[in-house]
Amino acid sequence: MIDYRSDTVTKPTTAMLEAMFNAKVGDDVFVEDPTINELEHFAAEMFGMDASLFCPSGTMTNQIAIKCHTQPGDEVICDKLSHIYQYEGGGIAFNSGCSVNLINSERGILTAEQVLASINADDVHKAATSLVSLENTFNRGGGGCYDFNEIIKIKEVCNQHNLKLHLDGARLFNAIIAKKETSKQYGETFDSISICLSKGLGTPVGSLILGNKAFIKKARRIRKVFGGGMRQAGYLAAAGLYALQNNIERLAIDHQNAQILVAALCKKKFIDTILPAETNIIIFSVKNEMTPTLFIEKMKENNILMYPISPTQVRLVVHLDITDVMINDTIKVIENM
Ligand SMILES: *Cc1c(COP(=O)(O)O)cnc(C)c1O
Repeated sequence: MIDYRSDTVTKPTTAMLEAMFNAKVGDDVFVEDPTINELEHFAAEMFGMDASLFCPSGTMTNQIAIKCHTQPGDEVICDKLSHIYQYEGGGIAFNSGCSVNLINSERGILTAEQVLASINADDVHKAATSLVSLENTFNRGGGGCYDFNEIIKIKEVCNQHNLKLHLDGARLFNAIIAKKETSKQYGETFDSISICLSKGLGTPVGSLILGNKAFIKKARRIRKVFGGGMRQAGYLAAAGLYALQNNIERLAIDHQNAQILVAALCKKKFIDTILPAETNIIIFSVKNEMTPTLFIEKMKENNILMYPISPTQVRLVVHLDITDVMINDTIKVIENM
């Protein structure tokens, strides 16, 4: 099977498994797992932030951040297709008792102007806006990236209105590689950053939340309340360390492979529109007699898996388990359709 459904489907390589096998572990609820401590320090250093916290999932790191930054009754500003709103089970309301102000932005990339216009007046009738959450890369927008200058402008708006700024950076390293940025510039700008180790970086499990000392202290308490305090999870953290040390630069290969697939898709008459594929995600709609379901069925007959991300769109995600041979095989199937 050639599996493009998500970059979460990757399996650890032998080298990663070896790092896991050899990990030194301890009880992390007692903060005694040396490998988790090492991973958390390593990530914090990468971003030039005080500290980080290892968690089971990106949903948990996002939800912990929202809980830390808000009070019940507050309002969170985010895009209407953002992961924190669409794909976290209503967690903003469930975990934090907050409402949302949803922005209908261009492919999920908010502007400072839109953020400013979404802040509620200081008025007893209104929910108190307290948090802005950005997503980079933006999943539902085809893995699009922010222009960092816009992030700086959004940060200025947040500073002027006393709002916290969170980043859902599940695929932040894809953006950093595509835009030739540094993790430090993100660390300097955001109050909290969530990164996934189990997407393009290829670990089996795990995410990190980064922030300042006081934030991470609070986050550790909330992680426990959410049931995310793990014990000898250093085996998983070892995979995370391996990924941060070995699997970031290679994301450029995934981005090149995505471009090769886009070029092949573009030639087909049944393709309606393809969102600009800036990183490893390709989202396209189909026309004429073709439907997403039919397209996905035909692919499956050739052992290729893709994901129907909406009733009109198909999503492909390129990742480290997709080889050049698989890309060539996929192109042949597309050409013969
Ligand atoms: C995958 C993802 C997450 C976190 O998902 P988990 O499956 O809970 O790890 C968060 N945000 C975005 C944009 C994602 O794509």
